[in-house]
Amino acid sequence: MVKVTVLGSAGSHPGNGRACSSYLVSAGDHHLLLDCGNGSMANLLDAVDPADLDAVIISHLHPDHFVDLYGLHYALRFHPSGSKTVDVHAPDGARSLLTSVLLGDAGDSFNRHLPMHVAAAGERLEIGPFDIELYAANHPIETLASRVWVDGRIIAFSGDSGTTEELIECARDVDLFICDSTWLSRDAPFPKGVHMTGTEAGQYAAAAGAERLMVTHVFPQREPEQAAADAETVYDGLVWVAADREEYEL
Ligand SMILES: [Zn+2]
Ligand SMILES: [Zn+2]
Repeated sequence: MVKVTVLGSAGSHPGNGRACSSYLVSAGDHHLLLDCGNGSMANLLDAVDPADLDAVIISHLHPDHFVDLYGLHYALRFHPSGSKTVDVHAPDGARSLLTSVLLGDAGDSFNRHLPMHVAAAGERLEIGPFDIELYAANHPIETLASRVWVDGRIIAFSGDSGTTEELIECARDVDLFICDSTWLSRDAPFPKGVHMTGTEAGQYAAAAGAERLMVTHVFPQREPEQAAADAETVYDGLVWVAADREEYEL
């Protein structure tokens, strides 16, 4: 059984009961963490022992997608059964950016417990039972969308993204498409190449033939249910509203 646990569904900043971007994909004893946004670490600790993570993939270097790596580092460094290491795959520049705010020997420790690997669109990663293909999302900075195969299921995660054909390829025939739905259609117009509306997420899920759509990254001061309703006007599949600490079985 493949399970996705939402550890953070909020877009850009945390809200009441909602941490920033983070999703745990689990298959048996194997766990892949997609993003590690602010506030998500507490939810991660309730879902899994952080030492049991196979790896972390960071979609891009906006703070709402990586800030809790700092907490994860300490959870691994001072783990009750001895210090642990978890590999992190992230866009180029992650190591220097993330360690630039760490003083003293904290940067060395951070790199030791969370070794950083540069990841780029077009690459394929094999991590335990997870087979991952990376795509280029459409965002103001380099952003990776992930297509994850595991145990006969396929999950796509857009990261933050405006509309782009790449996302349709990334989400082609998936069991679950976790898609940026930051903006409510009623608030239009929006800048191009940043985020999607629930309506656009629905259009993309339909174009890709996705079995299920999870709308997420909605601003905490907006209603995620409205993003789902917008998606449902153009998409016949099952629409889930990402909710923190909820588990979704595939
Ligand atoms: Zn974001
Ligand atoms: Zn972003």
